[in-house]
Amino acid sequence: MTRHQGSCHCGAIRLELRETPVDGAECNCSLCRRSGAFWHHCLPEVVTVTGEATGYIQGDCMLTNWHCGTCGMNTHWTAPQDPSYDRMAVNLRMFDPSLWAHLPRRQIDGASF
Ligand SMILES: [Zn+2]
Repeated sequence: MTRHQGSCHCGAIRLELRETPVDGAECNCSLCRRSGAFWHHCLPEVVTVTGEATGYIQGDCMLTNWHCGTCGMNTHWTAPQDPSYDRMAVNLRMFDPSLWAHLPRRQIDGASF
């Protein structure tokens, strides 16, 4: 099985992704345009997060945005408040650029939601 290892800058949070992305997404919502995250959306079952991330829930949004409390890197988001929503995303920038730098970029118009 393919296993890609990523981490925040200080290494407190580690991400394992067990699939290989074919593209990535940039979102213009008020959170993502600040963090500059390059998202890979996936099923939660292909990701393992290790370490204590800090969650941030934006207003009425059902997503929790996670970051490292030490180095501040925006590592992933989950939708724990809605168990029927089986998606999450990892920030590909936490992984080696050889995994994602060449990928096509999808633009998500999150600002309009
Ligand atoms: Zn960190």
